[in-house]
Amino acid sequence: MSHWPVIGHDWAVEQLQQAVARHELSHALLITGPESVGKHTLALTLAKSLLCTAEAPERPCGVCSACRRVDSGNHLDLLLVDPEATGKGVKIDQIRALERFLSLTPNTGQHKITIISSLELMNSNAANALLKTLEEPPSYAHLILLASDADTLLPTIVSRSQHFPLRPLPGATIKAALVEHWGVAEAEAQRLARLSGGRLGWAVQAITHPAHLRRAEESLQLLLDLLRSDLPTRFQTAQELAGDTVNLARSLEYWRTGWRDVLLLQTDNAAAITYLEHRESLAEIAARVPLETTTAVLQSLSAAQKSLQRNANTRLLVETLLLELPEISQ
Ligand SMILES: [Zn+2]
Repeated sequence: MSHWPVIGHDWAVEQLQQAVARHELSHALLITGPESVGKHTLALTLAKSLLCTAEAPERPCGVCSACRRVDSGNHLDLLLVDPEATGKGVKIDQIRALERFLSLTPNTGQHKITIISSLELMNSNAANALLKTLEEPPSYAHLILLASDADTLLPTIVSRSQHFPLRPLPGATIKAALVEHWGVAEAEAQRLARLSGGRLGWAVQAITHPAHLRRAEESLQLLLDLLRSDLPTRFQTAQELAGDTVNLARSLEYWRTGWRDVLLLQTDNAAAITYLEHRESLAEIAARVPLETTTAVLQSLSAAQKSLQRNANTRLLVETLLLELPEISQ
């Protein structure tokens, strides 16, 4: 079988390769996992292997015109359905366009593929329209649905799809990939692998967009500042954070990592912490906050992340969270 250009997630790659080879690929596939873990890469590679015009064992070849069209996003038999605005879900109009796209037979080969992103942000009208398409897809259609977490989706959508839950990759896999494929020096690869939380896409973005790495730094600094802030400052910060749900989601993830570090420090696992550079500040929190508070904050953060995916009242969600954070006096 050909080698797919996907790093990690070997079990998913293997299952998909076999399904494609046996012409048994499901019409609805659901790929879930945290942001930047590799969902898009896997979906696009699958699309390429279905549309590639090379001999079967070579697919996806990566060089034929079909493969290149998938890469540049203009293959006639592939429709990418992304939310029109950040932090919002795909709209019902886009699902109708998807229906029209799938109602016509393939232009070039035997398949028509659509990849729908951020399914968890889709409202119920759009989700119900999508469900209709999932119930009776044309024989040549494959719908690849991407979401952060299956728990937040309509159960009827999940039950109609073959589910591929992608997990964070081991740090060693990420480090090796950064050294081998992106030419990153050993020590820097080690550091990025540690900060990535098992998400290769995150590490790659950190190399190509330094602002990305800075944002992680700023998020953690904001958390440290908030712990020393009074209530009016926390309300003000909550208002600012609630205005940008995409950045909020990222901040919540960085904060969870920071609090996980606090927990590790409190339980004598200092060697395993992620934010080594902030060890001193985190150790101070670990020393001044009881263990029960740490676990409570971690639970609140997880709950907030799930609520955010369910389109909850963002402002209320952030206010509640920030007011629950312990206060560490100067
Ligand atoms: Zn090809």
